[in-house]
Amino acid sequence: MTPVVSIIGAGLGGLVLARVLHLHGVYATVYEADLSPTDRAQGGMLDIHTQDGQVALRAAGLLDAFQALILEGRQAHRILAPDGRVLLDLPDDGTGDRPEVQRGDLRQMLLDALPPGMVRWGHKLRVVRSAGTSLHEMTFTNGTTVATRLLVGADGAWSRVRPLLSDAVPIYTGTACVETWLFHADTRHPATAAVVGGGAMSAPVTGKAIMAHRERGDTLHAYVLLNRSLDWFEEIDFGDAAAATKRIAEEFDGWSPALRALVADSDIPPVLRPFYTLPLGHCWSRVPGVTLLGDAAHVTVPNGDGANMAMLDGAELGLALAAHIDDMEAALAHYEAALFARGSATVAMADGFHQTLAGDDPAGHMVDLFRRMSARV
Ligand SMILES: Cc1cc2nc3c(=O)[nH]c(=O)nc-3n(C[C@H](O)[C@H](O)[C@H](O)COP(=O)(O)OP(=O)(O)OC[C@H]3O[C@@H](n4cnc5c(N)ncnc54)[C@H](O)[C@@H]3O)c2cc1C
Repeated sequence: MTPVVSIIGAGLGGLVLARVLHLHGVYATVYEADLSPTDRAQGGMLDIHTQDGQVALRAAGLLDAFQALILEGRQAHRILAPDGRVLLDLPDDGTGDRPEVQRGDLRQMLLDALPPGMVRWGHKLRVVRSAGTSLHEMTFTNGTTVATRLLVGADGAWSRVRPLLSDAVPIYTGTACVETWLFHADTRHPATAAVVGGGAMSAPVTGKAIMAHRERGDTLHAYVLLNRSLDWFEEIDFGDAAAATKRIAEEFDGWSPALRALVADSDIPPVLRPFYTLPLGHCWSRVPGVTLLGDAAHVTVPNGDGANMAMLDGAELGLALAAHIDDMEAALAHYEAALFARGSATVAMADGFHQTLAGDDPAGHMVDLFRRMSARV
């Protein structure tokens, strides 16, 4: 049977779309490159906002299941100076609108809400070709070929579907993140656990920052941001974990030992993640039978919105298709008009955040921002 909708990518955006279509009785299949749900670690904590991510989960009928995943107390946020001085300490008083969950838990919840077989694991899209009006033929690296009436690229920053719609290619933003982890921090690294506190911690100076989160239990997950060229990172051998850790930690010489330990004492090899962005205002002219969502449409510097936006895209697309399944082009035109506006706003906000981190006194700007945000709640 030719799937009505083929979704490339079982990330959060693709899975929300699949779930909304399933709820509305629209036949869809998700093709995912990973070999299984546990093939790859799913990253750290995500704050899921009332105005976007939670709207998507409500459309997916999963708001209650989501609430059961929330890790209490993790909305606390502190901003520190490099010497460990606390510049701002916002407690989690239970009134925040950005509850935190583990990304892996959220993805598993979405997978559990789909019928068996709806996700085809080990299907990495290799090429797509047009096979007549509104019909596309997908060939996967496992040799399978499938035709589809609607192809949705939910396949992230390096989407294989995007070239059907647009020539845009993500460009390096000038900032990369190095991820590190400390396990059993309360007992093994009590001073570091104390400076991070119960939720999130940010310690930014111009061009660099250590940001960290208390995950489930007392695992500390840090994002070390460095405003450096790709050439600079290429000189570091990330295959040699000890040397790479030492080199990145050197960037924080002179910082409080408790903060620097988030880098220097990582329990597992540091993971490099350069940040890429699509151009502000990225859009395309309507091409019958194909569209994008999430990072495939508007990848940008992470600033706490990308996963929320991907899920909202998935929900909005699913609802539009369910409402107009006999006129998919009308549904796609409606969906894309809102997507382009939402994507531009996401990229503009992330760019502003990125400029703040790269500019003068990022800690002062973040303190102001968080004070304003907490006053609005
Ligand atoms: C370090 C970091 C921290 C972040 N923190 C946050 C945060 O706190 N809050 C937030 O909202 N956002 C955050 N983001 C952004 C967020 O991770 C992304 O915006 C979000 O994951 C995008 O979801 P997606 O479903 O569009 O794509 P993805 O999550 O990238 O999923 C794409 C899926 O497609 C699959 N795939 C890729 N290519 C193919 C192919 N050819 N064939 C088949 N399958 C394929 C992949 O394996 C993957 O499963 C962060 C990003 C980074 C890098």
